[in-house]
Amino acid sequence: MRIGADKNVIDRQSDEFYMTEALRQARRAYEAGEVPVGAVIERNGRIIARAWNQVELLNDATAHAEMLVLTKAEAAVGDWRLTDCTMYVTKEPCPMCAGAIVHTRLRRVVFGAADPKAGAAGSAMNLLQFPSLNHRCEVTGKVLERECRELLRQFFAEQRATAKSQNPPKNGNKTHQKGS
Ligand SMILES: [Zn+2]
Repeated sequence: MRIGADKNVIDRQSDEFYMTEALRQARRAYEAGEVPVGAVIERNGRIIARAWNQVELLNDATAHAEMLVLTKAEAAVGDWRLTDCTMYVTKEPCPMCAGAIVHTRLRRVVFGAADPKAGAAGSAMNLLQFPSLNHRCEVTGKVLERECRELLRQFFAEQRATAKSQNPPKNGNKTHQKGS
């Protein structure tokens, strides 16, 4: 029996369990018309904080799911140091959130959909493991990636469709019409 291999299977299954909870948060964001990103923080096998993106609701560009869930977790632990905690987030953290994650000294970050343009957990840059910063996190990417990405894709497709119906292209302006 290969204990290492078995351990990986168990880790993987529990990563998917917690990511499913993060996805539940992302769906709440979706229903509220927010970019659907959700996050939970796990400590000793328990979820101690949950949050979803609330930029529009709070009219606050810093109200990403990760920022909100970190604040909640700090309150739950009673310490700004989250050294024995893992964050599960449906989308790869942006530079702002990655910075906050490093400041709270989170042990591990697990994300769903990668963000090639702005992801700061290894896609566009890697702030979570930046050599000269005083803390580095373990990172696991692409857990339940398909589900996490599909939710985002669906949201942005809907947004585009709404924008189009509110602002239809003018008739006769052939240079700006596509595929007619
Ligand atoms: Zn962010």
